[in-house]
Amino acid sequence: MNIKDGEGKRLFERLTSLAGDVAAKLGRAAILMEVCGTHTTVIAKNGIKSLLSDWVDLRSGPGCPVCVTDQSDVDRVIALSCRPDVVIATFGDMVRVPGTVSSLERERAGGAKVEVFYSPMDALAYAHDHPAQQIVFLGVGFETTTPAIAATVVEAKKRQLDNFSVLSVHKVVPPALRALLDDGSFKIDGFILPGHVSAIIGRKAFEFISSEYNLPAVVAGFEAADVLGALYLLLDRIMRSRTQTVNAYTRLVKEDGNPRAREIVSECLEPAHVPWRGFGVIPESGLTFKEGYKDYDATKRFVIDVPDSCPPEGCGCGEVLKGRLKPSECPLFGTLCTPFDPVGPCMVSSEGACAACYQYE
Ligand code: SF4
Repeated sequence: MNIKDGEGKRLFERLTSLAGDVAAKLGRAAILMEVCGTHTTVIAKNGIKSLLSDWVDLRSGPGCPVCVTDQSDVDRVIALSCRPDVVIATFGDMVRVPGTVSSLERERAGGAKVEVFYSPMDALAYAHDHPAQQIVFLGVGFETTTPAIAATVVEAKKRQLDNFSVLSVHKVVPPALRALLDDGSFKIDGFILPGHVSAIIGRKAFEFISSEYNLPAVVAGFEAADVLGALYLLLDRIMRSRTQTVNAYTRLVKEDGNPRAREIVSECLEPAHVPWRGFGVIPESGLTFKEGYKDYDATKRFVIDVPDSCPPEGCGCGEVLKGRLKPSECPLFGTLCTPFDPVGPCMVSSEGACAACYQYE
């Protein structure tokens, strides 16, 4: 979108005028948080943060699935990769995430078998073609990616493939937002909600933000214009002291989301209390295998011993994921931690706040 002329320019002028009014009303910049790695990238790439910085303080929340994966889970998959009978199948970003003492990348260089796949079904096909090896798929992702992984597990069971399992570190977004709001140590004035996640769970799943916490929230799409529109709606609600959870991505998101996708997930997975980086254990914020599918749970199939996990020294990722620290405020940012030699996951993932900040801001 071009904000120098035409419709884009008019929208931007209205947005900045409203943002100024809101900042005057609050006596400070409005603190708005996006909780989706794709939004983080769109905001950074289009310079939206700096364009509005006089009136709006835009923060990234726990919206990057690789980044929120707890250090103990990173260490568990690295430990599994060291078994000679195991092939780790993973999405690409996880390979470079540093664990406490190693990474998948380093173990692969030392001979571990780590294969990158773009789809879990491809990993299943690999398992079919390599019956002598145990393929462990690293199940990372939010509500958007979980249905495809669940469908793969159902298919594995149907085909009775006993050399395929999943290390589930899946997460669900609403409990993390509750944890963030219950913590209360960092004031947030409103949320830009993830469009793809909402396409699965529906707008209603985020209704609690306005009904219980009295904050506005807007489900947004992924064009720059979508994000600017969502910001306008948020600022408008703040200006008028109206708390609403608005769906501004109606071309994809329905009130109840996609029940069929959720059905596939609930066929084999159920909620579990799991740790998030920087948050600790959040109740019912992850997914584990149901009875009938536990044979496909890598934690049941293998004994996984890991030493005590601890995040990299000096790494501020936990605070960045809660919005309390801006990436550039981490003492390691751009010096000891860069995309070429990342210290924390927020600098590894293409959707990480630190990587986006380093690349575009
Ligand atoms: Fe973590 Fe690096 Fe970001 Fe600091 S700059 S918070 S170490 S990823």
